[in-house]
Amino acid sequence: MIPVERKVIKPTTQALLHKRRSGASGLPARSDKIAGKWDYFLSKAPVVPQANQDALKDVRDTLDNMFHGKCCYCEKILAKDIEHFYPKTLYPQKMFEWENLLRACKDCNFEKLDEDPEDPKDPNGQRSLLDPTVDRPEDYLSWDLLTGMPVPKSQAPNHRGERTVQVCDLRNQKFNEERRKKATRVKNRLIDAVKDTQPDPKTVEELEDELAPGSPYLGVVRQILLDPLLSPLIDDVLARLPQLQSRVDALRWTHP
Ligand SMILES: [Zn+2]
Repeated sequence: MIPVERKVIKPTTQALLHKRRSGASGLPARSDKIAGKWDYFLSKAPVVPQANQDALKDVRDTLDNMFHGKCCYCEKILAKDIEHFYPKTLYPQKMFEWENLLRACKDCNFEKLDEDPEDPKDPNGQRSLLDPTVDRPEDYLSWDLLTGMPVPKSQAPNHRGERTVQVCDLRNQKFNEERRKKATRVKNRLIDAVKDTQPDPKTVEELEDELAPGSPYLGVVRQILLDPLLSPLIDDVLARLPQLQSRVDALRWTHP
């Protein structure tokens, strides 16, 4: 998981979401009308006004732009679902709130489903699920780069890191192997880049790809780039390959 900056949607989209919100906010939690209201917003049927379809496209495009087609939780690519951080069945008033919309993969969306971020509360009395558009994930969890396993900063089941790992099933072995491989490749390419006087163009190309915003599992790369023990190596790489600076800066970014 990496911190993600929320982008701005068009004023017309904001206005349409506001209109839809006033229609949804009176519904009680778990009302059987909730799904219908959301399905209507997603519908491409000719009866649905063009303004609705334009707003939906803007929401989808802006989420793609923010998450580069990746799941906000597991960072797998090809995430297509619009995820409600506060589930729409429990919080119909937040169903059309832009700040509540994220991009998630089918697996995480399925695992998370109707989990309530506010129930249970975390040990500080706050929500117990991580929102990468607000939280700094590194405050709550890190990664074991030798196994790819998530390492929450507390084992308490209602801790924001631990509960997010559990709810999204982030200990799933398949993803962890991908994360481990990614971390190993990046570390090896960083070492390769400073080995010879002139870095091999293939190494440079591979590093550019591994650090690209659309590349999966950047959480482990970010951890490598923020590791104080590795900063002399990374400084050396950047001195030789200044074209990587903007990618490294983007990956080191976090919420203020
Ligand atoms: Zn996912």
